[in-house]
Amino acid sequence: MGLNLIMMGPPGAGKGTQAGRVARERGLLKISTGDILRQAIKDQTPVGQLALSVMSTGELVDDETMIAIVRERLLQHDLDHQGFLLDGFPRTVPQAQALDRIIEERDNGPLVVIDIRVPFQELVRRLSGRRICSSCGTNADPFGSEARSCGKCGGELAYRADDSRDVVVERLKVYERQTFPLVEYYQGRQTFRVVNGAQAPDQVAFDLDTVLDDAAAVGAEAHRSRSEAGETGAPATTMDGTQGKGA
Ligand SMILES: [Zn+2]
Repeated sequence: MGLNLIMMGPPGAGKGTQAGRVARERGLLKISTGDILRQAIKDQTPVGQLALSVMSTGELVDDETMIAIVRERLLQHDLDHQGFLLDGFPRTVPQAQALDRIIEERDNGPLVVIDIRVPFQELVRRLSGRRICSSCGTNADPFGSEARSCGKCGGELAYRADDSRDVVVERLKVYERQTFPLVEYYQGRQTFRVVNGAQAPDQVAFDLDTVLDDAAAVGAEAHRSRSEAGETGAPATTMDGTQGKGA
């Protein structure tokens, strides 16, 4: 049975690094909405064409279109024996509700949601102090703050121009505002877990792996008992998905 994973976390929490590692180590296919959107447009699928017509007017792709694109991708059979790590989705509660229905329809492993949390002031400190190599563009390790030169090419490290404190604070506030309804939507579940991201990356990785194993086991168990309660055998005849353990 596959593991289906969403990771949430503000800019500066180290989510990208952890997500990449988890996907690699657990053989999860990383699915980014940006990538599948571009692919759908390139392949000129019906939803891809719809998305393109929306984007050409300068609008953002609406929930319904985004959901259709993600659904199309997640129901493809290359994911049957493998879980996925979804990047960039869901961003809204309607998208999260739709994802629950898709997970049910796939019937292949639970959805685990991990939220990496870091105190606001620590994020501001990390992001305001973020340095980048002036030669090759590599981000400097935020924990190796004494380093004076790029670990990759030896180039000079410089502060990123857009990382002034006000910009950072605004970015974080936007993130909090957008994410709050999603956290509310998920937080009552046993497969929703919080990881303390204000630790060294190795410790974050260790905690993350621990809660991931536990949440996956709990999710699989819940799935088993639902199946034994009589939901087995029937092909995916999902109704409206309202029996999900949501709000
Ligand atoms: Zn460099």
